[in-house]
Amino acid sequence: MALISVVVPCLNEQEAIPYFYKAICETARSMSVTWPELDFEFIFIDDGSTDDTMSVIEGLRKDDKRVRFVSFSRNFGKEAALFAGLTYSRGDYLVTMDADMQDPPALLPDMYKAVTEEGYDSAATRRITRKGEPFIRSVFARAFYRLINRMSSADIVDGARDYRIMTRRMVDSILSMTEYNRFTKGIYGWIGFKTKWIEFENVERIAGETKWSFWKLFKYAIEGIIGFSTMPLSIATWFGLCMSLISFLGILFIIIKKLVYGDPTSGWSSLVCIMLLIAGIQLFCMGVIGQYLGKTYLESKKRPIFIAKKTSDDEER
Ligand code: UDP
Ligand code: MG
Repeated sequence: MALISVVVPCLNEQEAIPYFYKAICETARSMSVTWPELDFEFIFIDDGSTDDTMSVIEGLRKDDKRVRFVSFSRNFGKEAALFAGLTYSRGDYLVTMDADMQDPPALLPDMYKAVTEEGYDSAATRRITRKGEPFIRSVFARAFYRLINRMSSADIVDGARDYRIMTRRMVDSILSMTEYNRFTKGIYGWIGFKTKWIEFENVERIAGETKWSFWKLFKYAIEGIIGFSTMPLSIATWFGLCMSLISFLGILFIIIKKLVYGDPTSGWSSLVCIMLLIAGIQLFCMGVIGQYLGKTYLESKKRPIFIAKKTSDDEER
């Protein structure tokens, strides 16, 4: 027998979950026809929902013991929800996917084939269009991927979704990365393994609305850069070097001008501008260092990544 764990992070998804459950059961059924040895478990992570998500999940579990769940004590974010799903999973293979049907279950058979028959450790999906997404968001997303790939050694794929299947070995290596500031897209790139990429067209969510505001995405992008690159830390060094060089040339210029023409340099406003500029650059660099220091501070506290209020394992015990 082979067990597939499907991990689904849910934040206020009461409308979407019934559609999702129906679709994934359909896929599971058709896959068990092709591969009779297959078994499934569906792990829903309730990421501190304030609507009826939890009762919808418990309703599903009543009739289907393949449904398991972890309910967080508050909203810990999608990254924490994925981590919790990995922790609780028991499967030989693990699939992570969204509850809103933006990750088409129909791709699952191909993904399973990649890890069982084609010798891959993982099969991941990326969308090749961003249809239905606000224009400005697409522009920023593209810029972010270009930037982070230039700055970091972790290979981060543009348009990659968190929809992927992995072998147990890969799951265990992700679980061994217990960092508090999690950026899954970077973690996948960092741990390596052989990944097959499956492409599909963007699908719009079936019900409910997106949980990611522009600001939340922006902070997530900064998190990714700080988590997987130390290049911003060297900004101060380069700024400093350039500034010293420029001012050295400036001093030479003033001395020569004085010797040749004998007139003193005039104008204090230019001086004030230069001072303000340098002060600004210094503050900026201190801010960058502060960002890293802040993350280091949080890491050093070794707080848990999530806190579960209730899990389906409680009743099994
Ligand atoms: N999600 C979550 N915690 C959060 C934000 C989102 O568990 O803090 C879940 C959400 O329920 C969904 C998935 O992560 O299943 C993706 O979120 P969403 O569809 O809102 O993002 P988008 O597809 O618009 O990028
Ligand atoms: Mg979505």
